[in-house]
Amino acid sequence: MIITLKPDTTQKGIEHVVEKIKELGFAPHISKGAKRTIIGVIGENPIRYRSVFEAMFIVESVVPISRPYKLVSREFKKENTKFKVGGVEIGGKKVVVMAGPCAVENRDLILEVAKEVKGAGAKVLRGGAFKPRTSPYSFQGLGKEGLKLLAEVSRITGLPVVTEAMDPRQVEVVSEYAHIIQIGARNMQNFDLLREVGRGKCPVLLKRGIASTVKELLMSAEYILSGGNYNLILCERGIRTFEDSTRFTLDLSAIPLIKKLTHLPVLVDPSHGTGMRDLVVPMSRAAIAAGSDGLIVEVHPRPEEALSDGLQALPPQDFRHLMQEIKAVATALGRES
Ligand code: PEP
Ligand code: MN
Repeated sequence: MIITLKPDTTQKGIEHVVEKIKELGFAPHISKGAKRTIIGVIGENPIRYRSVFEAMFIVESVVPISRPYKLVSREFKKENTKFKVGGVEIGGKKVVVMAGPCAVENRDLILEVAKEVKGAGAKVLRGGAFKPRTSPYSFQGLGKEGLKLLAEVSRITGLPVVTEAMDPRQVEVVSEYAHIIQIGARNMQNFDLLREVGRGKCPVLLKRGIASTVKELLMSAEYILSGGNYNLILCERGIRTFEDSTRFTLDLSAIPLIKKLTHLPVLVDPSHGTGMRDLVVPMSRAAIAAGSDGLIVEVHPRPEEALSDGLQALPPQDFRHLMQEIKAVATALGRES
């Protein structure tokens, strides 16, 4: 349920409403707009107390949120969510590209790729330290050592970094070294992990599960916002379908749909979304055209030597080409890159 307060309601008035919400056993979530403050009342069926709030003279309206996800919905917040990560605005006019290798393999590689992608215009460095691998015998990532390398390269290049946490016990250490915590596709419904990142302050990139609906993605997003962490980016990274010519089917229709249903920024991962290097540039163009706030792309200077996901990694010259291509699309749509 959403309580909209009358314009110019004082801080004391807001506190009064918040107290009442807590007294009734619900969680208040305050969103201050330019003119009005709205308060989300989260919990089981709060609308039964509608009249309690309607009776308050500072309350303009009380409306139920019809969707199962509440804080995430456009009904709760009309304006797009924007926030800064290490000086980079996410969800604004500028298209943000995050790029880097699938995994941090060693210091030389991550530093080389970071310099390359920065030179081409990427604003955030990606690289996995804890890797979710289908086979237990495949390279599992460098773990904490990888996080340290990411932090060092971030200091050298000035690029903020995004990297994955696979387990609630990794959240603390990942937020110590990284600027954005990635929740990978395989963990989209790891509810303990969602709650853990929701309790923290570190911005989160939540990837859509490989067999998850948009509604399930948004319910997972709700776990994070309801814990008090509002700095969330959603990511479409392809889903499983009957089509097996590509690694996954990149669901570009999810972008305008998510934009319609929520206020959260959305990224597209054309690398995992297709699994094929040749398709990464065209699907990146399409993603920006469909309204994505940015991309997360895998880049490797020698893809044939990559310890993971070499088939979908772009060599640096192809990544530079990608950046030029999406600039043209962004400009045509009145955005910047
Ligand atoms: C990744 O970004 O390296 C990754 C493993 O992605 P996903 O969880 O989307 O498969
Ligand atoms: Mn990968």
